[in-house]
Amino acid sequence: MLRTLMLGRSHLKTSGFPAVVRQVWGTLRQPLRRPERPCSQVSCAQKNRRDGLHPLWKSAGSVPGGSRQSPINIRWRDSVYDPGLQPLRISYDAAACLHVWNTGYLFQVEFDDATEGSGISGGPLENHYRLKQFHFHWGAANEWGSEHTVDDHVYPAELHLVHWNSVKYRNYKEAVMGENGLAVIGVFLKLGAHHKALQTLVEVLPEIKHKDTWAAVGPFEPSCLLPTCRDYWTYPGSLTTPPLTESVTWIILKKPIEVAASQLAEFRTLLFSALGEEERMMVNNYRPLQPLMNRKVRSSFQATEERTTS
Ligand SMILES: [Zn+2]
Repeated sequence: MLRTLMLGRSHLKTSGFPAVVRQVWGTLRQPLRRPERPCSQVSCAQKNRRDGLHPLWKSAGSVPGGSRQSPINIRWRDSVYDPGLQPLRISYDAAACLHVWNTGYLFQVEFDDATEGSGISGGPLENHYRLKQFHFHWGAANEWGSEHTVDDHVYPAELHLVHWNSVKYRNYKEAVMGENGLAVIGVFLKLGAHHKALQTLVEVLPEIKHKDTWAAVGPFEPSCLLPTCRDYWTYPGSLTTPPLTESVTWIILKKPIEVAASQLAEFRTLLFSALGEEERMMVNNYRPLQPLMNRKVRSSFQATEERTTS
């Protein structure tokens, strides 16, 4: 049965096939408790993503029943170039960086969002959005870990910079539940050169090994974690962690940043568990792909032949 899943990538890209894979894969996965990514890019590596269900998901359920859930697989050929999309205007204040903490699901760097100083506008956004925090999602190995995928290509990790609409809402908490409340910039991480700016965060990680531990960090200017090229895809979606609210305008940068394998390995030294609990490695902290349903992904750039992701 497994052999039937080992098909070439060209075949996988033909229409209809991923659904079949999902069905078969679903039956294969029945004994598993974790909501696995229903991915069409079936590889031996992905069969190893077998983990118990993280407590975060135990009450949330894997199917919230919404119509604009995230993450999604971005299909380059199905995305629509929108010449009306503005360039992103990004202005972050390094001094607003407060601390980093282990949430028990990932590590998150928090920012002071009491003033307008640090945030984004332009792009697909009609208002200014203040930076609240950024965090990463990653896998147990380098072959997977990102939440979004591009033409079924999975990156080893993904950075999310979370912003809230400070024109429509009074604070982050209100914005999470509201229409056009949040804007999240997604940046893919791929293996390559050592990332100097990321290293300043990596060096703090030993201090926040356990759940609910905090460490001072900063000043830190998060735009140093963005690629030079600001081309992006945008689509209406949701948070990928509970409460999974459909308040997010996603802005996914086309170009990944490069990080060293040793830096990603440091992410995996963190634990889901608190001090005194049985140790559980913090890995595979991504949500499975969600159906696109009736949505269009727009791009700020015109498609060319340079599809370097596969
Ligand atoms: Zn995230």
